[in-house]
Amino acid sequence: MNSFSKRLHGLSALLLQAQCPLCHRTTPDAFCQDCQRQIQRCQVAEAAWVQQEQLPVFAWGRYNGALRRTIAAFKYENKPHLARPLAHWLASAWLSMSDRATPFIVVPIPMHASKRQQRGFNQAELLAEHFCEQTRLPLQAHGLARSRETTAQFQLSAGDREQNLADAFSLGDAFRKRPPRSAVLLLDDIYTTGATARSAAQTLRRHGIRVQGLIVLARAEREERGKE
Ligand SMILES: [Zn+2]
Repeated sequence: MNSFSKRLHGLSALLLQAQCPLCHRTTPDAFCQDCQRQIQRCQVAEAAWVQQEQLPVFAWGRYNGALRRTIAAFKYENKPHLARPLAHWLASAWLSMSDRATPFIVVPIPMHASKRQQRGFNQAELLAEHFCEQTRLPLQAHGLARSRETTAQFQLSAGDREQNLADAFSLGDAFRKRPPRSAVLLLDDIYTTGATARSAAQTLRRHGIRVQGLIVLARAEREERGKE
């Protein structure tokens, strides 16, 4: 092997052996086995809708421990490739519960353009793409639009959050041109106070669009609610 092909060999081995996003050990998979087990321990025992202030929520797991750290790595450490395994777990849980005949339309919660540019991707949209790939539900990434930037939610009191989010969304181009006939499933990465999702659902309902509920990777219990 000459030095060039040696380097090439080294490089491809490096590419095949990615790092686990939680413990940084090398692994051929998205997570090492230990961390994957820890994340899966956050899964809720029974896949079901939970009614939360006018909006049913379906969550794969609880927003704490390894799942919370994974979502943080996905969003804040620029790891968009984690959308795929996470969305597939969510999809499997969804398929285990849902009646597959209902043709819901999946709409990810949009991000304001400036924030999206800063992060490089909208985590909800990536999750929705992979969720739909698995469930075969239709995806409409432009069902909603974020009409204005909002102050970071975690800096505000509960009352101010609602105010901050009033009219934060508008109907997206796709739904403005052609309103959907089926009910919408909103999709986001996490559910904390629910203010964002309620605002998004209100916008759709104001336009006569039915909203079945919100599906998320993780739902915070009251005491885990912090940064949204
Ligand atoms: Zn690990």
